[in-house]
Amino acid sequence: MQKTLTILKPDTIGAGRAGAVIASIEEAGFRIRAVRMLHLTRGQAEGFYAVHRERPFFGDLVAFMTEGPVIVMVLEADDAVSKLRELMGATDPAKAENGTIRKRFATNIERNAIHGSDAPETAAVEIAYFFNRLEMV
Ligand code: ATP
Ligand code: MG
Repeated sequence: MQKTLTILKPDTIGAGRAGAVIASIEEAGFRIRAVRMLHLTRGQAEGFYAVHRERPFFGDLVAFMTEGPVIVMVLEADDAVSKLRELMGATDPAKAENGTIRKRFATNIERNAIHGSDAPETAAVEIAYFFNRLEMV
């Protein structure tokens, strides 16, 4: 079994679609191992997306990620990282496959409903960013 980190972004929580997205994640076979709801500070969002700090969209991305609360979860499944990326769909919802979370719930390439770790090594770093071992079942 592999673990990955997901964030239901502020657009999802704001639209009242957290339950629908979590249902879709569970129906796809993931087990939820940890959950936190929090309103990211600017520093926390900048730290989480530090890999993108030189990108032109970084300031807008941080503003979006701090505009309201998020739900952060550790998910477990066989091949969880790539399985979640597949369920999420492409970064730009206009390019996402039908039935994916981003096709169903995202607004545009920035307000795209959900984050998922992009590799097992990144997942380990991202999980440790939000959770300690006692918070995971
Ligand atoms: P995430 O890391 O959130 O799971 P991703 O891996 O599909 O998304 P990244 O390239 O890591 O995509 O980009 C991180 C986030 O930055 C995107 O999910 C999106 O919210 C935002 N973003 C990416 N590209 C753009 C862009 N061209 N314009 C605006 N926002 C963007
Ligand atoms: Mg990414």
